[in-house]
Amino acid sequence: MSGPSVCQVATNTYLVDGGLVNWVLVTEGDAVLLIDAGLPGHRRAIDESIRMIGHRPDEIVGILATHANVAHIGAVPQLLRRHPFPVLMDPAEVSVAKGERLDTSGSSSTVRNLFRPGHLRWSLAALRLGASESVRIPTAQALVPGRQLDLPGRPVPVPTHGHTSGHCAYLLPDAGAVVTGDALVTRYPSSTLWGPQLPPPVFSADPTEAVYALDALLPLDADLVLPGHGTSYCGSVPDAVDLARERANAAAGNSTRRR
Ligand SMILES: [Zn+2]
Repeated sequence: MSGPSVCQVATNTYLVDGGLVNWVLVTEGDAVLLIDAGLPGHRRAIDESIRMIGHRPDEIVGILATHANVAHIGAVPQLLRRHPFPVLMDPAEVSVAKGERLDTSGSSSTVRNLFRPGHLRWSLAALRLGASESVRIPTAQALVPGRQLDLPGRPVPVPTHGHTSGHCAYLLPDAGAVVTGDALVTRYPSSTLWGPQLPPPVFSADPTEAVYALDALLPLDADLVLPGHGTSYCGSVPDAVDLARERANAAAGNSTRRR
């Protein structure tokens, strides 16, 4: 596997492309916040990305998860084995991270949809990085939706339930950026589309809710989208939401335009 691609997108804010999935690094002094943590096999790439921005992996002070899918929390247990730090996520996602409830999208879908057209190569690569592993985080904690966190970047959790029942985006106010996870992506492994879009419905727990969840992004004071898959999107977030909805509607053949 080639190394991670690290792009500074704002002061103290970096989008890292791990190859199949992204994570975000936010720094403040020596402290490093990780938003999402790739697949289990991404642990070395996460370390490398932290070193590439002049920090050390032992400077991680916390992890925020957009959702408890193996492709987004995969390396957390390995990172926690080295030193403790809080792992926070939407209250509805905590039981999945703890292994008390099944993931409603993602890893199971990865296996289930292994042989869908265009998905095989991604699936095999993801499986090589541990996509079929059962990742559990017994210490996962619930954040308070909407309440700013005392972590680098002062992130504000923005619930965007739909892709999973507890999916959460994070506004980074100083960066004018929103980390959207799989609520809004700009590329998806099984799709040939580029630009703002939702993951294919088959990968979401509630595809209709995932479309409506985009409402939560509209009022945010941000002009930069940092997605869980694909490159960053710089521009109007409402325009990105509109485009993603149009594409979702075209794919579904129904009408769920912006409310
Ligand atoms: Zn994903």
